[in-house]
Amino acid sequence: MRAMVLKAAGQPLQLTELPVPTPASAQVLIQVQTCGICRTDLHVVDGELAHPKLPLIPGHQIVGTVVGKGDQVERFQIGDRVGVPWLGHTCHHCRYCLTGRENLCDWAQFTGYQLDGGYAEYTVAEESFCFPIPSGYPDLQAAPLLCAGLIGYRSLTMTGDAERLGLYGFGAAAHIIIQVARYQGRKVFAFTRAGDSQSQQFARELGAVWAGSSDELPPELLDAAIIFAPVGALVPAALKAIAKGGVVVCAGIHMSDIPSFSYDLLWEERSLRSVANLTRRDGEEFLALAPKIPVHTQVQAFPLEEANTALNALRSGQIQGAAALVMER
Ligand SMILES: [Zn+2]
Ligand SMILES: [Zn+2]
Repeated sequence: MRAMVLKAAGQPLQLTELPVPTPASAQVLIQVQTCGICRTDLHVVDGELAHPKLPLIPGHQIVGTVVGKGDQVERFQIGDRVGVPWLGHTCHHCRYCLTGRENLCDWAQFTGYQLDGGYAEYTVAEESFCFPIPSGYPDLQAAPLLCAGLIGYRSLTMTGDAERLGLYGFGAAAHIIIQVARYQGRKVFAFTRAGDSQSQQFARELGAVWAGSSDELPPELLDAAIIFAPVGALVPAALKAIAKGGVVVCAGIHMSDIPSFSYDLLWEERSLRSVANLTRRDGEEFLALAPKIPVHTQVQAFPLEEANTALNALRSGQIQGAAALVMER
């Protein structure tokens, strides 16, 4: 099979011919149709996340077809369409697994980081961490639901019933979460890089009541903000924009250092928290909700061998909505 492989952090991925993997007893073998590109993939490739498996096939928003399975697989049949998310394995017995917080498992393994992912024609995945894909979604449109959608949804739930919601960074996750937030009756305020009028326009088209630069204050104070961009300076900016009792949720896995800020910004019961990974329950809830709204995703497709081009486009802010690799056979 053809795969785009990371041999060392900081280097471009290399198109490599590899044997098709063999599923272990609890794994399915998946013929990959498409694999979404996530900012986390950039952090892995750039060496900002420590100790990836090397060599590594990145990619954790995989949509494909089951073409083989191990002897213990019961949930899926040959021919089923499945999605593979970031959470690829948990231990089932640590204190986090036993208390409904498998996203924090001490021995979790993540797809496209410690496990080979979907920048390839085939992959294997533990069946219990795969999701059925809602039938109304074409493969390409389903891919960004699996991380941008799912971790965005977990972040949104951390804002409680906040009515006035700020989204910092209007990329793949925000373009999905604004649709969920609007469906729930919230008012969304979108913040982008200064001068990115295209993304601001995109946010307004998706129903933002206001869109502007992340160094501006919104026209009214917010009840909550989610920071999707990996920029630490957005933390004090978002704290300034929220009202008393509000929450700022950092949704990314990596962020540049947060500049020091005055305690005033946190005072009056404002809170600041991160969201890490996902639980399978998040996935089940979100994939049931998305077709009801229905969430529409905008996805720019790239051929597998252009993964480096796609990652560079994401890095420089040239992707409107989401991006995904598509296997051409
Ligand atoms: Zn565990
Ligand atoms: Zn991701």
